[in-house]
This record gives sequence, C-alpha cells and structure tokens, in this order.
Amino acid sequence: MRHNRTGIMATIDNILAKNEFTKEDIIYLLSTQGEEKNMLFEKSAAVKSATVGNKVYYRGLIELSNACAKDCLYCGIRKSNAKVERYNLSDSDVLAAAQFAYENRYGSLAIQSGELKSPAFRRRITNLLKQIKELSKGELGITISLGEQDEETYQEWFDAGAHRYLLRIEVSNPALYHRYHPADHSYEERLQCLKILHKIGYQVGTGVMVGLPFQTLADLADDLLFMKAMDVHMVGMGPYVEHKDTPLYEFRSQLLPQEERFTLTLKMITILRLMMPDINMVAATAMQAIDPLGREKALKVGANILMPNITPGQHRDDYKLYENKPCTDDAAEDCKNCLEARVHIAGHEVGYGEWGDSKHFLNGKKP
Ligand code: SAM
Repeated sequence: MRHNRTGIMATIDNILAKNEFTKEDIIYLLSTQGEEKNMLFEKSAAVKSATVGNKVYYRGLIELSNACAKDCLYCGIRKSNAKVERYNLSDSDVLAAAQFAYENRYGSLAIQSGELKSPAFRRRITNLLKQIKELSKGELGITISLGEQDEETYQEWFDAGAHRYLLRIEVSNPALYHRYHPADHSYEERLQCLKILHKIGYQVGTGVMVGLPFQTLADLADDLLFMKAMDVHMVGMGPYVEHKDTPLYEFRSQLLPQEERFTLTLKMITILRLMMPDINMVAATAMQAIDPLGREKALKVGANILMPNITPGQHRDDYKLYENKPCTDDAAEDCKNCLEARVHIAGHEVGYGEWGDSKHFLNGKKP
C-alpha cells in the first residue's frame, strides 16, 4: 500500500482521481519526480490497458521525399538547408515498400513528406493511394502526413483511400509558433487545415514537440488542453532534438538536457492518456533518438502505435529531421525483427494485419 500521509501524496492522489484536469493540475503533473512520477505512469498504463488495450499497431512509414517548401527553424530538411541531399522516391519504390508492408501484415502505411504543393504532387499522391489500395486488395489502411494543403486536395486524397491524416500543430501557442517559424508561415492556416481534415471525415492526428527552447511547462499544459479541445483522434508527440544545420541550434544552451526532454515527453503522453483515454498515440521515433529503449518506454506507459520505417534504406539517411535519427542504415526486414522483439519486451503484442483505428474516432461515430 502507498504511504499517503503527507500533503504532497494527497495532492497527487487528488489530481489523479479527477475526471478533468485544470491547467494547474497539468503543470503539477508535468513537474512530478520520483514516486509521484511513477504514480502518474502507473495510472496511465492502467488506463491505457483498460481502454485501448495492450496491442501495438503498425504504420509502415514511407518517407516519400525530403524536398520541402517550408523553412521551419528547427527542422533538418528545411528549404534553406543546402547541406541536405534532396531525394524523391520513385513510384515503384513506394509501391514496393507498400507491398512489403502488405506481405508482412503491417496493417497500415504512413506516407510522410516534406511539404510539396502542386497539381502534379496532388495527382501523384492520388494515383499512389489508389494503387496501394489495389495492390493490397483494400487491406492496407493509409495514414498520410503531407503538410498543409487546400480542402479539395485533402478531399481528393480521402476519396482515393487515405483515412487518417497527421498534421502536428508543433506548438499550440501562436506567439511561440511564430518564434519557431519564418514570418510567411501561418499558424492560423495550420489550425484551419486541422479543422478541414476533421470536417472531411479523416481520423485526425496532431501533436507537438517537447522541450523546445523558450517553451515552458505552462505552454505544454496548454498544448494538451488544445488537443483535448480540438477533439483529435490521434496524437504524435516527440522530444525536440536539435539539428546543427538549423537556426534554432543557436539556442541550444537554453535546452533541457536530452534525458529531461525525454522524460517530459513521457509525462506529456501519460497525462494525455488520462485526459483522452481512447485516442491512438504514437511512440515517436525521436524518443529512440535520445534513448535506445525510448519507444518501448513510451509504449509501456501510454503509447499504442509504432511507425516502423520501411523507406528504402539508401534514402533513410537523407530524411534527417534531427541528429541521431535511429535505424537509418537498416533494411526494412531488420527493422521488422528488432521491432517485434521490442514490442514483446514492453509486454505488448503486435496487431498484425489490423488497422487499429482510433477508438476515440470510432466511439465518436456511435449514435
Ligand atoms: N511536412 C509535413 C508537416 O508539415 O507536417 C510532415 C513532415 S515534418 C518533417 C514531420 C515532423 O517532424 C514535424 O511535424 C515536426 O514535429 C518533426 N520535426 C521536425 N524537426 C524536428 C526536430 N528537430 N526535432 C524533433 N522533431 C522534429
């Protein structure tokens, strides 16, 4: 039994017993250490197991292209980084990766790319989506993460077979958003995109980076309240990992040590699991960039989705958003074997051949 005599323990018990957290509650939970932090993690693990269960669903990740029209100040593939060797997978590479995912019963794909906006890109994605649906006889679920687009484009891709869309807000505070992006990037437009995706009927995912310079615990608490208010179905949160060829690198002396950013991300995941028990949450690759067992730790306490990288090996190294990106020299098959062992270590099983759609989405559709 827990010793519950001190006022501090009473506070954490009181907070964890609530159905709704205030901003102050969230800040308290983000500040927990030691036994209190363990209590948060244990509660989240229990809630996860009781709502979404202990199955982990795969989204085989295809990093379509690192060409990007945006210039986000934190991102390694930003337009102005001349040191990046740009690539664009061929359609046959994409379809071969999809075939791999299908044959290995990954259940779903996630197609991600730097931001490209053009009629040709729109057509290309539409055709790829249709071909992937065809080659998998409709069995592969498809998540896309292709940045900000207009409504017609989102609708066309939805009609062609994509049913989940990931678009991180990155940081929900507009003033901070403008500090991490050049003047021609619009917070309002990104927000509008999330609303349109919702309206079209996608399962909508958003998320933030954790541990950015200038970001406070109050900002992170607001991020979680934002996700709840937006009623998103999926969330991907990862630690910010600095990249030396980006403008934000200049502020690295202001960053928390990487391990603290990692723990803070685990706290964000666990608090959100308590706030939104039935959403899908990804154990982000950036967790593993900091801690070799990072994704397993995220699965243990609250995440339930993994995105194994199935991008053809020769291009993995070029999609470097941050330093230390793991598994960039592995073949997809290596990743599959090591990942399954990792899922088992975390005490979970893989939902092979299943879509593993967001229960929050499905529950929301029930009459
Ligand atoms: N273009 C799409 C978009 O805008 O959503 C998807 C590609 S974008 C490179 C994917 C995600 O990488 C971003 O949403 C961002 O959160 C993450 N990212 C970029 N730079 C990062 C960094 N230095 N550390 C951690 N995550 C980073």
